This record gives sequence, structure tokens and C-alpha cells, in this order.
Amino acid sequence: MLPLLSLLTSLLASSVSAQTTQCKAHPTDAGSWPTTQQWAQLNQTVSGRLAAVIPPAAACHNSFNGQPTYNQARCTQIRNSWGQQDFHFNDPVSIMWDYWSNNTCAPSQFPGSCNIGTYPVYVVKAQSVADVQAGVNFARERGVRLVIKNTGHDFMGKSTGAASLSIWTHLFKEIQIINNYNDPSTTYTGPAIRLGSGWQAGDIFKELDRIGRTIVAGECAGVGVTGGYIQGGGHGPLSSLYGMGSDSVLQYTLVTASGTYITADASQNTDIFWALRGGGGASFGVVISVTLKTYPSPRTSAMTLSFSSQQVGGNDRFWSAIGAFHAAGPTWVENGLFGYYEINPGQFTLQPLLAPNKTQAELQRLTEPFLQNLRNQGINLTPRYHEHSNFLASYNALFAGEGSGVSMLTSSRLILKSHIRNNNAAVTNAFRRTVEGGRFIVGHMVGPPPYADSAVNPIWREGVLLPLYNAFVQAGASEQEKQRIIQETNNVYDKVFKDATPGGGGYVNEGNIFDPNWKQEFYGAAYARLYRVKREVDPQGVFWAKTAVGSELWEERVGGRLCRTNIQP
Ligand SMILES: Cc1cc2nc3c(=O)[nH]c(=O)nc-3n(C[C@H](O)[C@H](O)[C@H](O)COP(=O)(O)OP(=O)(O)OC[C@H]3O[C@@H](n4cnc5c(N)ncnc54)[C@H](O)[C@@H]3O)c2cc1C
Repeated sequence: MLPLLSLLTSLLASSVSAQTTQCKAHPTDAGSWPTTQQWAQLNQTVSGRLAAVIPPAAACHNSFNGQPTYNQARCTQIRNSWGQQDFHFNDPVSIMWDYWSNNTCAPSQFPGSCNIGTYPVYVVKAQSVADVQAGVNFARERGVRLVIKNTGHDFMGKSTGAASLSIWTHLFKEIQIINNYNDPSTTYTGPAIRLGSGWQAGDIFKELDRIGRTIVAGECAGVGVTGGYIQGGGHGPLSSLYGMGSDSVLQYTLVTASGTYITADASQNTDIFWALRGGGGASFGVVISVTLKTYPSPRTSAMTLSFSSQQVGGNDRFWSAIGAFHAAGPTWVENGLFGYYEINPGQFTLQPLLAPNKTQAELQRLTEPFLQNLRNQGINLTPRYHEHSNFLASYNALFAGEGSGVSMLTSSRLILKSHIRNNNAAVTNAFRRTVEGGRFIVGHMVGPPPYADSAVNPIWREGVLLPLYNAFVQAGASEQEKQRIIQETNNVYDKVFKDATPGGGGYVNEGNIFDPNWKQEFYGAAYARLYRVKREVDPQGVFWAKTAVGSELWEERVGGRLCRTNIQP
């Protein structure tokens, strides 16, 4: 009996240890999680820039990890700024969408004790390449889950992770204006800019305006330019004219999964260079800097327009007017125009339809057929036109600031010109069902021109509309309620959009993270090569985020434990 028992015990022990090696280290596993001394050693290596994470709103709670944390004055401050993006992008671990922090330790939940939830356990507030290398090496060697955070904008929660070490890249603010970028391996010679990976759109638009130039970046001032945004492709107000953000990239520097600092461009590490232009953040390395083409800051004109269902004579006419707006999209984006609009039940707001490099008269000529189409339906609307001498002036005047700090789930659909040209009625119906079902829509009208050789989902080049349809999830919603919303998104709203737009797709930066078909939706024909590159540069899976390339090899289990799936690489 005894030998059998001991055999069983040792078999059990070996199977447990085999299981643990199949999983990343977890703080509840004394055997796998690094010791306090090892963390202290890492802190020394990064010159004191490692911090044990205390959730950003702990001051609104009685205690964290058994330590008293409540501080009324600080809590009031946090509550007042939770809805503002800068609170989150200036904090090493805070993220903008509470769904992904699971409302753990959120400022609205006073009083109580709070725990770490989905926040990382430690964060390196990186200021040098060596800091990043130390963080990556530590995570790889000790099997600790690694996440990367820049601004924390990610709608899909990919800049946080339970039981992890995080590297915060937002402090990389290098800037170097290059008058004449000249790399014989590219076809481009001309003005460029090298930026650290922590730069945000609004700041860089201002910097470049001083020399009369600009770049392609997002419509929201706070969104990063050189972090997750550009690695996922990145669309923006100048995209119909100059392409996706990543189409302008000339060079990346990054720290790879092996801890090596490399340059990737058209002549070296070319596979990584390709993958980092569309293949998504948190996949191939920690980007340190990006060199981008710059463009003359264009004079712009713009149209703004809003109408309600009441104003146009009822709901059917309201949706018919939206259909007419979409019908104009293919021609508009082919002329370099970009639209940002919102649809709530019975209310449409377009702010703005931006026309870079066009005079107001030219824009009026382009928009007249749309207005005539409306008049033919008996709908008389008077848009406002605007004209600015440069891009920054129009950006400041027409793009509103955006908030954060709510619990929200996002999905989106990349709709192609052919869908509008061939079956606009079905597209309008998908919008209508989604809004009338209770989702609010943030729409983008954008059509980046063709661009060879990047990992951006190829269908973007045929794209014209990218509606994001968002669902608010109540703070403290039960798991059952969350599942209901996720299933409703997948089975009702995604389905209605997918049925209306066969061959369309999602967007890796603003998509439905629970879409079971994410590989095809986010990456399309680029996925097979992206996966090969991922396996080559990160065979151990040091970098992981849900729906990132190669993420199917790992899954997040209870408590945030990251374990291998049974999918063979
Ligand atoms: C209000 C708002 C407006 C937006 N507007 C636009 C828009 O106009 N156009 C558009 O295309 N998208 C837009 N987005 C979506 C945006 O592209 C994504 O949220 C994107 O992930 C933001 O990148 P970030 O680096 O700022 O954010 P983060 O949340 O910090 O990071 C996003 C992802 O990139 C990874 N990452 C960040 N930095 C690095 C790095 N240095 N190296 C490797 N991986 C990194 C993170 O791990 C994470 O997976 C918007 C989002 C919001 C919330």
C-alpha cells in the first residue's frame, strides 16, 4: 500500500508541477511567483523605478491588502478626475474603461476594502531602454505575465492584466525633427520625425504645427500615437488623404521578447517592421520609438450637421437621411474627406466632415449631391461650413475632447464601399437595429488609400465606414449580466452588421474582444504571416493580450492566471 501511495503522491506532485509550468507565475503560487528579494533586485536594476501597485482609487476605500488607504481629500480629487482622460494616462496603471478593471477599487464604490483585481501587481515606470530590457528579461526568465501600458485608452482592456508585471511606456517622450530622412532602402526621402512611444495626438499636432507640418494620428487628442494606436494601423482625420497612421512609419526601435534592443525598418528586421504596421500592440516587442513621415499641414474646410428625427419628420425619414449620408461616403473618402459622427436614438450629429486640402467652395460642391438627395426626400437641412488655414486650427475648433471612466464594451464593423454601393439599405438597417436596440454609435467615415506591404488588414483599403457600437455595463453588474451583453453583441448586433456587410471586418484597436472569429475579423489575410512572425520572435509567449497575434496559445483563467491552451503552435 505504502509504495503505491507514495507513487500516487509523486505522480500528483509531478502533474501539478507540469501544470504550473504550463501557466505563468501567479502571486498565489509561492513556488512560481518571484520572491520579495527578486522583486527588490529588479527594482535596483531599474534604478528604483519599479513600484508595487496600489490601485489608483484606493484612497476612496478603507483598505487595500489590509493596509488603511482612505483619504477623503484625495478621494474627492480622484472622483472629480476619473471621467477625464489625463488622470488615467498620467497614472502608471490606471485604464480608461472600468469594465476592464472589473470596477475593482473604483472610486464610485466607497466604502469597503479593495483588492488588486485586474491591475498588475508591479509596474516598471520605464525611462530608458535598459529599464524595458530589465522588465522583459525578468518576465521571461521568471515566467511572469507581462503587460504594456501607454495611455490606457484601449477599449478592449489590453493595457492591464491580473497577476502581471506591467511596463509603462508613456514617459518615452523623445522628439527629433528630421529635415531630410534619407534611407536608400525606402522610396521616401523627405521630412520626418522620430518620436518616443509615449506621444499623444494632440501634443504632437501642436509641436509640428510650429513648423507647418503634421502627421496622421487619431481624432482624439489624448490617444497615443506611437504605442498601440500605430501598431494596430491607426485611422485619423487625415487618413483618407495620407493613409493609416502606420503607412507613415519609416522605422521602429523596440525591445524584443529576448530583451534585445533592435531597429526594424525597410532594410533590417523587415518581418518585424511589417508586423508592427497593423499587427497590433503587445505582440512583437515593446516599442521605444517610431520614425514617421510628416506632411505639410493642409488648409482645411469642414461641414458640421446635426438633425433629430423630429426635425426631419419622423423616424423613417431620420434613417433615410442617415442612409443618404452613408451613400455619399465612397465619393467623399475618395476625395480625402473624413467624417466623425454620433448616432443616438432620434439624434444624428456630424462633427465634422473634414476636407483637408479643400476650399469651402470645393467642399460645398462635394456635399451638394447629398443635400440635394435629402431635398428630393423633402428634407431640408442647413449644414454649417468652416474653413481654416491649417490642420491644427480645424482640429482645435472641430474635434471635441472625450471622456473616460465608464464601464463600456465596444464592438465595431469595417464597412466597405461595395456594401454602400450595392446594398446601402441593409447597412442602414443594421445601424437602425443597433441604435434602436440601445447601443450608441460613434461613426467614422474614412477610406485610407492603397499602400503596399504592411500588416494592416487588407480590407481597410476598400473601407468607408467604421461604426463603433458601445454598450454601457452597470458598475457591479453580475457575471450573468455581462455574459448577456456579450452574447447580445455577438449574436444580435455583430450578426446584423456581418449579415449586411459580408467580407467586411473588425478593427484590432476598436473591436469586439469577444468575437470568436477575431483572427479573420481583425487581421484578415495578414494573420497567417503575422502568426509566423510572432512564433519566430516570441516563441515563449512573453507578450500576450487577448486577441493579439498568437494569443490563442494562452488563455486567462480564474484569478487572471495565464495558462497554455491545448492548441499546438
Ligand atoms: C477616446 C478614444 C478615441 C480613439 N480614437 C481613435 C482614432 O481616432 N483612431 C484610431 O485608430 N483609434 C482610436 N482609438 C483607439 C486606439 O487606437 C486604441 O485605444 C489604442 O489601443 C490606443 O493605444 P495607446 O497606446 O494610446 O493605448 P494603451 O491602452 O496604453 O495601449 C493599447 C495597446 O497597445 C499596447 N502598447 C501600448 N504601448 C506599446 C508599446 N510601446 N509597445 C508595444 N505595445 C504597446 C498595449 O499593451 C495595449 O495592448 C481611440 C480610443 C479612445 C478611447
